[in-house]
Amino acid sequence: SRKWKVNPTEIELGDNVTISEKDFTIIAGPCSIESEEQIHKIVQHLVKNNIKIMRGGVYKPRSSPYAFRGLGLEGLKLFHSICKSNGIKIITEVMQVSQIDEMAEYVDIFQVGARNAQNFNLLDALGRIDKPVMLKRGISGTIDELLQSAEYVFSAGNEKIILCERGIRTFENSYRNTFDINAIPILKEKSHLPVIADPSHGIGLRNHVPKIALAAMAAGADGIITEIHYEPEKAFSDGQQTLNFEEFEKLLKQIKSIKKVL
Ligand code: PEP
Ligand code: MN
Repeated sequence: SRKWKVNPTEIELGDNVTISEKDFTIIAGPCSIESEEQIHKIVQHLVKNNIKIMRGGVYKPRSSPYAFRGLGLEGLKLFHSICKSNGIKIITEVMQVSQIDEMAEYVDIFQVGARNAQNFNLLDALGRIDKPVMLKRGISGTIDELLQSAEYVFSAGNEKIILCERGIRTFENSYRNTFDINAIPILKEKSHLPVIADPSHGIGLRNHVPKIALAAMAAGADGIITEIHYEPEKAFSDGQQTLNFEEFEKLLKQIKSIKKVL
């Protein structure tokens, strides 16, 4: 907590890529890693826009077991080799303890998904490694539960933690999740850890994602993680909330102009 550590935590990923309060971090990429061609196209777009961290799931927690569940370790190796040769860092979801070791050499940040926010064995194990971990808020998790999950990782020895507000399940059903804008200033006040907003899962509707991204920025988030794809309609998962390249570039311009005001 802030009481214990006043100075904000900075997450160093190497090659001068840092997640901290000092700059607004933009993480972008597809919901799922789909193919070599897809990785290449998206990496090129990130390079063009000077984005240093790419997201993309290879182990996908899906509501239906029949939905696309990711390319697994082979997909991660491909993801890693293309990103590495382009100077891009990787964040991807780890779903269980047994995956940590085999994934570690290909990953820059381990993402713990909303469905695993209280998988305490996974959190304990991630506390014992020397790699940054981004913790997503649980599907119906409170702010305090998110902070307690961070304590699991922290108390086991890993202090490289990023918090992520990705919306929670409420009674409202006119969008996917209720993005909790209030969580951002509260997390920033209570914790010294960087706070990243996920507007894609936060609202779940592509045309509104940029507005939520900008709102999160105004609320004090240290960055955003956004789903992008050159053909969102054809994405293997979460296409409905994925920005196309044009929409993403428009958002980047808006972020730059708001940055000057804040
Ligand atoms: C994702 O990032 O694609 C994802 C599955 O997120 P969440 O765990 O927040 O639902
Ligand atoms: Mn997704």
